[in-house]
Amino acid sequence: MELASDLYETFEWKNLHPLIRADLATIVEGSRRGANIELFKLEKQSVSFFLEQKNSLDKWLKYSGFEYTNRRDDYYISSDKDLLYELSKGEIKPGEFLGYPKCCIKNFEEGCKKYLEGKGKGPAVNFWLQAKKEKEKGELEPVLEYAFHMPCSTKCINSIEYTGLQVEAIKEKNKEAAKALREYNLRLMENFAKRF
Ligand SMILES: [Zn+2]
Repeated sequence: MELASDLYETFEWKNLHPLIRADLATIVEGSRRGANIELFKLEKQSVSFFLEQKNSLDKWLKYSGFEYTNRRDDYYISSDKDLLYELSKGEIKPGEFLGYPKCCIKNFEEGCKKYLEGKGKGPAVNFWLQAKKEKEKGELEPVLEYAFHMPCSTKCINSIEYTGLQVEAIKEKNKEAAKALREYNLRLMENFAKRF
């Protein structure tokens, strides 16, 4: 495997959107073993941007030596071949592949089910509305503003620990990516607050 510093020096890395870099940096730094890039979402914004990012991501991945699958431009990338195999065989869930806390995986599944049954607002809205309330009172754990996943609650110790590890790993060498991640989350929080 290449040295992490080399992987950050490539043209392709520098060309990737900061939010994509935030996800990838966690596996480069080894704070988790799996990352997911939902590249197909970019296509909805702009086809040319999607194609440019796909080109950079594909080249960077080849260079990186990471294992990956990219079904319908939904990339699952790992530093661990066995982990990717377990995912492809359905032995582990995507959330487990990404190292998410079990309590949050369960909460997300149950929350989505309730939402689809017309009972409740859905786990993402619930979390960010709760986070906004606490942020306004100055009570929100600041690290959760960098969440990569949907924490089961603003008090979830496992989420604080998991997110803390990821942020610590990317903050030093990928300041721009960390900043973009926080801004993305805070925008989501404001949008949810307006809509719900
Ligand atoms: Zn949790």
